[in-house]
Amino acid sequence: MKVGILGNGQLGQMLSDSIKDLADIEVSLYDLRAHNDADLAAFVANVDVVSYETENIPAAIVDQLEGIADKLYPSLTALKTFQNRLLEKNALRAAGIDTADFCAVNSLDDLKQAINTLGLPIVLKTTTEGYDGKGQYVLRAPTDAEPAWTSIGNRELIAEAFVPFLRETSVIASRDRQGNMVVWPMTENIHHEGILRYSLYPAVGLSNEKAAQAERYIRQLADSLDYVGTITLELFETEKGLVANEVAPRVHNSGHWSIEGADTSQFRNHMLAITGRDLGATRARHNAIAMLNVISDEEPAVAAENITNAFRHSYGKEARPARKLGHVTVVADDEAQRDATITQLGALIPAGVWPPKH
Ligand code: AMP
Repeated sequence: MKVGILGNGQLGQMLSDSIKDLADIEVSLYDLRAHNDADLAAFVANVDVVSYETENIPAAIVDQLEGIADKLYPSLTALKTFQNRLLEKNALRAAGIDTADFCAVNSLDDLKQAINTLGLPIVLKTTTEGYDGKGQYVLRAPTDAEPAWTSIGNRELIAEAFVPFLRETSVIASRDRQGNMVVWPMTENIHHEGILRYSLYPAVGLSNEKAAQAERYIRQLADSLDYVGTITLELFETEKGLVANEVAPRVHNSGHWSIEGADTSQFRNHMLAITGRDLGATRARHNAIAMLNVISDEEPAVAAENITNAFRHSYGKEARPARKLGHVTVVADDEAQRDATITQLGALIPAGVWPPKH
């Protein structure tokens, strides 16, 4: 069976690598940045199943996918829904999932109205193409409305009430074509300057009620869209319970630990789901796991080569400020051993970002 993946970045590469042992699946990656209509038409015509490593796919390409909707997994509806923060929030609410209160903002007047309706602070975001905190503006006072609108307001926006969260977590699941689902254990995710720096398993202190709530949420969401493939739900943990932040219709950075750390990785289960196969188990194989991103500079990751319980992945990318160049997964028998290894790899994490603050 031939699978074509739109996007040839590290996620596409890891999807492809995850099923190297399955000789009957052949994977090719399509470079979205070099897109032209004829090439894309030839690429999709030549494969049995089409998937994507990113939801940030330009509208012209999405239009072209209408013609191959029957072999696209996750579906065109999932892609369109999760590439737009307004449609995404509506889908979350429709699936019975708690989110921040929000309003659509298409003018400065709308923004002033949103401040009246939602109160302050507000997180203002572009509805499309935002990632790693780009295209966002936090408003703390009514006088922030004009600068915020000037900064990002030449396009469709969403205003969200600020969620006073204790920490950020994510839950990742895969759903097959028959509707069976498997869910990985949750991680706690620590961001710095808008970028994920590291994820920790287990999410220490997460109550059984909240873990069950996360699992219920992701099942409700995936079922509501008859979703096929791996899906990620980013969640804020608050005093009252979990509040959905955003959805990725794909494998996610916070799930990279699953390559070495789980019975089956998020990548492999995605490939198994979209090719109509049975899913693998998602149990964690170690008591304590960490995934550290390698950002801007690969040098600090080299130390991992000499640590037996650390696994270095390099994406082979040119170094650039704030660019994800790779990751390191640490597996351990307990949290103390894991944390000692993270300390050895401390140069990967900016000062003050390790350990987590709460
Ligand atoms: P996003 O691109 O939506 O994941 O937002 C990037 C980061 O901004 C999140 O990881 C949070 O740290 C923060 N953030 C986004 N939306 C909100 C919100 N409504 N309330 C509080 N913090 C937020």
